[in-house]
Amino acid sequence: MFSLAGKSLYVEALDLWIDSMSSRERCYVSHGHSDHARPHRTVVATPNTARICRSRFARRAERAPQLSLLARDERPRDEVRFEERAFNEPWTEGEHRLTLFSAGHVLGSSQLLIEGAAGSFVYTGDFKLAPSLTVEPPEVKRCDVVLMECTYGRPQYAFPPREEVAGEMIAFARDCLEHDAVPVFFAYSLGKAQEAMAILGGAGLPLTVHGAVDTLAHVYLEAGVALPPFARYHAETFDPASVLIWPPGGKALPKALRGRNVRTAILTGWSLDRGAFFRYGTERGFALSDHADYPALLEYIERAQPKNVILNHGWRDFTHRLRALGINAEYLEPNAQLSLF
Ligand SMILES: [Zn+2]
Repeated sequence: MFSLAGKSLYVEALDLWIDSMSSRERCYVSHGHSDHARPHRTVVATPNTARICRSRFARRAERAPQLSLLARDERPRDEVRFEERAFNEPWTEGEHRLTLFSAGHVLGSSQLLIEGAAGSFVYTGDFKLAPSLTVEPPEVKRCDVVLMECTYGRPQYAFPPREEVAGEMIAFARDCLEHDAVPVFFAYSLGKAQEAMAILGGAGLPLTVHGAVDTLAHVYLEAGVALPPFARYHAETFDPASVLIWPPGGKALPKALRGRNVRTAILTGWSLDRGAFFRYGTERGFALSDHADYPALLEYIERAQPKNVILNHGWRDFTHRLRALGINAEYLEPNAQLSLF
C-alpha cells in the first residue's frame, strides 16, 4: 500500500504523495516549513497550512519571476490548486477514510490518519506535544501503525518546561536592554519566530522583526492568532530599545546594529548540546523547540498504542531504544517498499 520513491513517500492505494520534495500531481503537505512544503499541481493541506504555502510560494515566485529560473520540477504558483481539509473532518477515497488532525508543530501543521479495512495508519509529520501560545493544540490518535519523526530521539534531549524557557528568554532580553545592549533572538521565520514574539512581546517587551518573520506573522494574524504589537525592521526607523527577532539564516546582522552593543541568542532544542552556542556563534541558547523531545516521543507512542512504529527524520538508535522497551520499531530507509497491513 505504501512505498518510498527515493526519499519521497507515496501511498499507492490513494495515488497520493506525502511531503514530497519534488513537484507532484497531488501531494499532502503536512506544514509550511520549506523542507515539507513545495508547489504541486494539487496540494492537500489544512486551511492554515494553505495560507502559509500561498504566502511562501508567492515569495519564491517574486524571487524567481521567470519560469526558466525556477527549479526544473517547480511549478509556477498560479498552477497550484489547494484541496483544503479541516482538522477532524474525514473524507473518503475509494476504500479508505482520511483525516487530518493537529500536530502542534507550527500554525496549521497536521498529521494524516488513513483508515481502511486492514487497519489504521498515522503519518505524524513534524510534531510536538508541549503547549504553545501560537499553534493549535496537538492531538494523538490511536492507530495500528505510526510513521513518526524522531528528531530528538535520544534521552539527553529532555526540554525544560516551556514556562521556564520563556522566563529565561524574558530575563535575558530585559538584562540586555537594561545594559544598553540590543538583544537579538535567532529563530526560524515560520513558527519559532511567532512563538518568540508571543513570549517576549507578551511580557511587554517592544519587538522588531525581520521582513520574512513579519510576512508570516501577518499570516498568523489573518488566521486569528493573537500576537503582541511588533514593527518590521527598517534600518532608518529601527528602535535600539527593542528586541530583534531574526532568522538564523540571516546571521549577518542588520546595518542599524553596526557600532552598537549587541547580545545574541539562538532558539533551538539543540541548545541542550554542550558547545551549541559555539556552533551557532551566539552568547546564549534557549531550548524553545517546535519538535517533540525524547519524553514526548515516548508519550506519543504510549498514547497512540501502535503495533508498529516506523521512524524517519532523526536518530536511528531510537529504533534500538524502542525495541529495548518491547516496541516494534524500524527505521524507514530510502527506496523502502512497505506493506503496512
Ligand atoms: Zn517543520
